[in-house]
Amino acid sequence: MSYPRLIIDLDKIHKNAVKVHSMCSRHGVEVVGVTKVVCGDPTVARTLLDSGIEILGDSRLKNIERMKANGINSKFMLLRIPMLSELRKAVELVDVFLVSELEVVKVLSDLSKKVGMRRQIIYMVDLGDLREGVWFENSIDEIVSASRFSGVELVGIGTNLGCYGGIIPTPEKMKQLVEIARVLRSKNVNVKIVSAGNTAALPLIEMDELPNEVNQYRIGEAIMLGTDATNNRTIEYLERETFILEVEIVEIKIKPSIPVGKIGKDSFGRTPRFEDRGNIKRAILAIGEQDVDSKGIFPMDKRARVLHASSDHMIVDISESDVDYRIGDKMCFLLNYSSLLRSMTSQYVEKIFSKRG
Ligand SMILES: *Cc1c(COP(=O)(O)O)cnc(C)c1O
Repeated sequence: MSYPRLIIDLDKIHKNAVKVHSMCSRHGVEVVGVTKVVCGDPTVARTLLDSGIEILGDSRLKNIERMKANGINSKFMLLRIPMLSELRKAVELVDVFLVSELEVVKVLSDLSKKVGMRRQIIYMVDLGDLREGVWFENSIDEIVSASRFSGVELVGIGTNLGCYGGIIPTPEKMKQLVEIARVLRSKNVNVKIVSAGNTAALPLIEMDELPNEVNQYRIGEAIMLGTDATNNRTIEYLERETFILEVEIVEIKIKPSIPVGKIGKDSFGRTPRFEDRGNIKRAILAIGEQDVDSKGIFPMDKRARVLHASSDHMIVDISESDVDYRIGDKMCFLLNYSSLLRSMTSQYVEKIFSKRG
């Protein structure tokens, strides 16, 4: 057995997927199950499909390739607007593209014709979050133009909120998108899909404030972690302990709580801040910023506290803990989204599946 290791609870992920899928279905919203935070892990992908989800979305072509190579035969959506340089390969692997550039649509249309498959596109609209998409005020003409390429089928429009600018999806933002769909339809553009949300937009469904015309959400975080970072909440009806990271203790010593000497920057150029609490009991754990985000890793021992980490060492204050930790003991942690992403990406973290029973 090697450490650190990440225990992936497939039962809990399955439960979350079933809940999110059934809640969204009741409101006429199709769920795209998002696999990017687990790097397209095929076992997790299969778990999502077992919950009733029928389409998987990932931002990286390599992840989609990995899932397909491992026998996942669902429909796939590429979540990141594609690089021109990957289109040739992408057209073979991806069923639905999120796009925001006519130049890309043109190349995709030509390639689709070549392989004899009419790929689908969803044109992204930027409603203010400042990530991808045509700016909402001048979206109509551009999307009408996109609908005219014969090699691809424009199936809908979409937006992404919360991820970059932290803009909260409100009923007003959703109505803006629905209004754009209405204007497009009046110009004979067949907008079947209004793909309006991610985890941050779940409250609109919970509170029944989502316009009827919105019919697709792309959901990752809620299913994988039971959290919603944009709205700063854990989602009470979902499981939180889906991924547990076990890390080994390599040193335990009583030392001061502030460094001794003149403080400069740490190994990542950050200026660490210290609180003087006298001498404390400090454990060094064999993990670091390469494998987790030290701001997003939470001891399951409620009385322990992560202080700071460098690339390969993480320091935890165990002064207040009731547990009598020894060298070689393992500590368990829950992760936020960025920590989970890093630990799934890190080849130094072993992944263990707890079976679905
Ligand atoms: C990552 C991503 C999502 C999923 O977001 P979550 O917050 O994990 O639910 C949805 N849409 C796009 C375009 C994404 O890149």
